[in-house]
Amino acid sequence: MEPSLQTEVRSASEEAAAMAARLVLDGQPVAVPTETVYGLAADATNAEAVARIYAAKGRPSFNPLIVHVPDVTAAQQLGAFDAAALSLAEAHWPGPLTLVVPKKADAGIAPLVTAGLESIAIRVPAHPVMRMLLEMAGRPLAAPSANASGKISPTSAAHVKASLDGRIALILDGGQAKRGIESTIIAATDGTLRLLRRGPIDVPGALASDDARIEAPGQLSSHYAPGKPLRLEATHAEADEILIGYGDVEGELSLGRDPVTAAARLFAALHEADASPHPRIAVAPIPGDGLAAAIRDRLRRAAAPRP
Ligand code: AMP
Ligand code: MG
Repeated sequence: MEPSLQTEVRSASEEAAAMAARLVLDGQPVAVPTETVYGLAADATNAEAVARIYAAKGRPSFNPLIVHVPDVTAAQQLGAFDAAALSLAEAHWPGPLTLVVPKKADAGIAPLVTAGLESIAIRVPAHPVMRMLLEMAGRPLAAPSANASGKISPTSAAHVKASLDGRIALILDGGQAKRGIESTIIAATDGTLRLLRRGPIDVPGALASDDARIEAPGQLSSHYAPGKPLRLEATHAEADEILIGYGDVEGELSLGRDPVTAAARLFAALHEADASPHPRIAVAPIPGDGLAAAIRDRLRRAAAPRP
C-alpha cells in the first residue's frame, strides 16, 4: 500500500481515545499501546477492517491474530474455555497471556482474524489506554504488533510512526510499552495446555511444543487449508470445479474487485467452496502486490499438497 494517510500522533487522553474508537467503528485500524508492545487494532467483527491491518503492515502472509477483549465474560462469548483455560484466565487476566481456545460458532469474528481456523486466540490486556479503547469501541479488537512487516515490534509511538507513517490515521501515544515482549501463548483446545509461544508469563505444566507450526496428528495447526484440491490462476471452471472469482473473472463465488475486499472474503469463500458438492476448487488470479501478494501466498499454501 502506498502511504496516503496523514498519520496523527495523539497523547492518549480520553478525547484521543474517543477519536480512536470512532475510527475503529468506521473500519480503520489505529495504533494503541498495550503492556507488551504497541498494537495495530481493528474491529475484529469487521472483515474489511481486519484486511486493512494487513494492508497497513504490508505483511506478506496471513497469520491468525490475537483478539483483545475487556474481561473474561467477553472472552467466553468468543471461545469455549475448559476448566484449565478458565483458571489460567482468572489467574493472569488482565495481563500478557493469550489463550487459544475453540472458537464459538456464534462468535461473530471475521474469518480473516483466525485465518480460517476453528480456534481463536484471546487476550484481556492490562494497559489502561488499550482498555479505554476496548470500552469506548465496544468491539473485540484484533491487534498484531504495530510495525511494518519485517520490522521489530514497536515499544513507543515514535517506533510506530517511523514504521507506519502514512499508512494509518492515528497513533495513541501512551509512552513506553513496559514489557517490550509479546504475550505468552497457551493453547487449550484439546484438554491439554500447550505452550505455543514463550513470553512474560510462565505457565508451569504447559507442554512446550518445540514448533507449534508442526502439523502432527492431534497437534494444533496454525494454518487452515481446504480439504479439496485447489487450482490457482484459473480463468474458468472445469466441470468438476467450483470457481472463486475475482475482478473480471466471474465465478460461483467472488472475492470482489479489490484486494481489501478479497482479503476480507478469502477464508469464508474457501470454507464455502470446501462445503460445496464440487470435488475441486479453482481460484481466479489475484494480481498486484501488498495485500494481493499476501492473498496469493495464502492460496499457494492452501494449494500445496499436504503430507
Ligand atoms: P502476534 O499477533 O504477532 O502477536 O502473533 C499472534 C500469534 O498467535 C501468532 O504466532 C499466531 O500463530 C498465534 N495464534 C493466533 N491465533 C492462533 C490460533 N487460533 N491457533 C494457533 N496459533 C494462533
Ligand atoms: Mg509482530
